[in-house]
Order: sequence, then C-alpha cells, then structure tokens
Amino acid sequence: MSNKPLILSGKICPYCGKQTELIDSAEVYHGVSYGWMYICRPCYAYVGCYNGTTKSLGRLANAELRRYKHEAHEVFDQIWKDCFMDRYNAYTWLSKKLGIERQLTHIGMFDVDTCKKVIQVSKAFLNNQESQNNSVEMLTIKLINNHIVIDDGQNLILDTGSPYSFHSSGKIHICGKSISVPTSLTSISREYLRNNVYDKAEGLLGMDVINEYPFTLSIKDDFVIIGDDVKSYQALPKLNISPFVGLQLLINGHHANMIVDSGAKLSYIDSRFTIGLHSIGHEKDFSPYIGEFITELFNCETVLPNLYIGKISYVQKYGTPPPMLSAMLCQLHVDGILGVDFFKQFRLHLRKCQLFFPPQGI
Ligand SMILES: [Zn+2]
Repeated sequence: MSNKPLILSGKICPYCGKQTELIDSAEVYHGVSYGWMYICRPCYAYVGCYNGTTKSLGRLANAELRRYKHEAHEVFDQIWKDCFMDRYNAYTWLSKKLGIERQLTHIGMFDVDTCKKVIQVSKAFLNNQESQNNSVEMLTIKLINNHIVIDDGQNLILDTGSPYSFHSSGKIHICGKSISVPTSLTSISREYLRNNVYDKAEGLLGMDVINEYPFTLSIKDDFVIIGDDVKSYQALPKLNISPFVGLQLLINGHHANMIVDSGAKLSYIDSRFTIGLHSIGHEKDFSPYIGEFITELFNCETVLPNLYIGKISYVQKYGTPPPMLSAMLCQLHVDGILGVDFFKQFRLHLRKCQLFFPPQGI
C-alpha cells in the first residue's frame, strides 16, 4: 500500500519516511500554543492541525517547503481576497489548473513543485486581470470634413469641445469596456452630425469619457492610443476650465488663454489679437448654438514657449469669433479656440484636462 495517505495526513515524514510525533505546537512556536502538531525531529519538518483536533492540515513541511507554502498562499489568496472569485471557486479553479482532485487541492498538502506551480498560475491570473483593467487600445483615425473620426466602426467624432458623449446605440465601447451614454444631446443629435459633419456619424466622444482615459492623438500618423501611460511627455501650461482642455500660449506675441477643441473645424482668436493684420479671406463655419456663419480669417504666429526642446513657433489660420461665440468664450475666460489644426501640428497626449507634449516634439 502506498504511503501517500499517511504522508498527506501527517502521520509519516515525507523526507525520511519515518513515523511522526504528535506534540503541542508551543514547542515549535516558542511557548505559544496553536494546538496540536505533527513533527519529525530529525528533519525539523512539521505541520499544524485543524483547530482543536489532531487532524493535520496536510503533509509535513521542512523549512524550504514552509517558505513556498507561505508564498503560494500569499499569491493565491489574493485571487479570492481581491474578489476575482469567491474562495470556493478559486480552489476549484486551482484544482483544474493543477490537475488535482478538488478535495485534495489544499496548499497544506502540496510539495515544493506544486507550490511553485500555484505561484506561477496565480501570478499569471492576477497579471491578466491587471492588464485587462489597464488595457491599451490603438485605433486609426481619419479626418473627414476636418473632424476627427475614430475608424473602428462606431463612427464616433472625437470632440474635446463637447462636455458630454453620445451614441445612437446608447453605448460606447472603449478599451474593452462598454460605457452607457445618451443616444443624443439636447443640442446635438446623430442627424445634426450627419447633416453638418459626416454622413455616417453615430455620435460624439466628449470630455465625460475622454477624461477617464489617457489619450495620445496623432493626426499626422492617423492614430489615437487610448489608455496608454506615457511618462516622458512634458505637461503644457494648463488653464483651469474643467471639463474642457485649456492651454496657455502666445499668439502674435501676446499671452492667449485657449480652449482646445478637437471638434472645431476652425481655430478662433479674439479680434484684439489680429489688430493691424491683413485678412487672408473668409470661411463658412457652423456651430450647434449659432448655426451657420461666415468668419474673417487671419494667419497668426502661434508659439508654445518653454518646452524642453525650446520654443515651437508656427503660423496658423484663425477665424474671428462672431458675437455669440465671443460671448461664450468670454464666459469661459478664454481668448480663443484651438481647433483641429492644432492637433495636425503635433502628436499630443491628453489626460484629465491636461495636454502633454512629446519629448522630441514629434
Ligand atoms: Zn523525517
């Protein structure tokens, strides 16, 4: 007959094969008793008993095995302590992973190799859970009528100028999660977008969702990465206009406070900044609040100062805000709007109303 049941019940030492001794655990734990214990003195291997009984918790363990059992418990117990499964199901899962019968799946009964396997499969499980929570998604984008459309079949327009998101299906899928959103907004519906922006549009991705994830956006490279954790980017001077993205820069040599609106086809700057400049023409634009209007255009020197790589200066086209838009900008205490053209210049990272600039400026 095999010794296995006697080994697993603590009656025989698994290291030397001799019979064990039942003692009070106080002998091992420096005078503090935790009940009965089976011990093999020559091997200094021992195992405790279930509370108030002489039924062993498993096989005897020497110092090496005790260390591995301790580590196996530390890692495996996280699975049920952190509520990924309840305790019973966690042990059922473990028995399947190890190919051991459910009633024999107790870390107290395991040898060093099995403990190592417990540590390995439990760590893999926990790492997988973690990566699902922080999953990163890279999607292609396309510019349609100067609006950023996320090209993943949801037909969403990325709009940092909208405080809210909506989608005709009532759901937006992002980074493996499904987020409930309204099917339209009071001022903007799918039909509005289809008539004015893009004939296949289904909704807007606005700041309520955008602020929940880090975004890296590059129109030049046609992609947006959602959920990526960039550390090397430099924070640009922030302006507090939550939930929107605000930025301070220089326009024609003057400090300008700007709202960054990826949903704006044109950028706008208050007429104070364009005094004495020659207009370069006119353009038609629209706003859900104002309707269609014509704006006078100016080329303005736009400067991002104090970057690690120095300052960046480029010329960008700005419209002159019509009175109603001017009043709205005034309420936000900003001088203008940086529209989609701003995103065409640089790869930018966006996190919680804050813009970040890439380390090499690209
Ligand atoms: Zn022994």
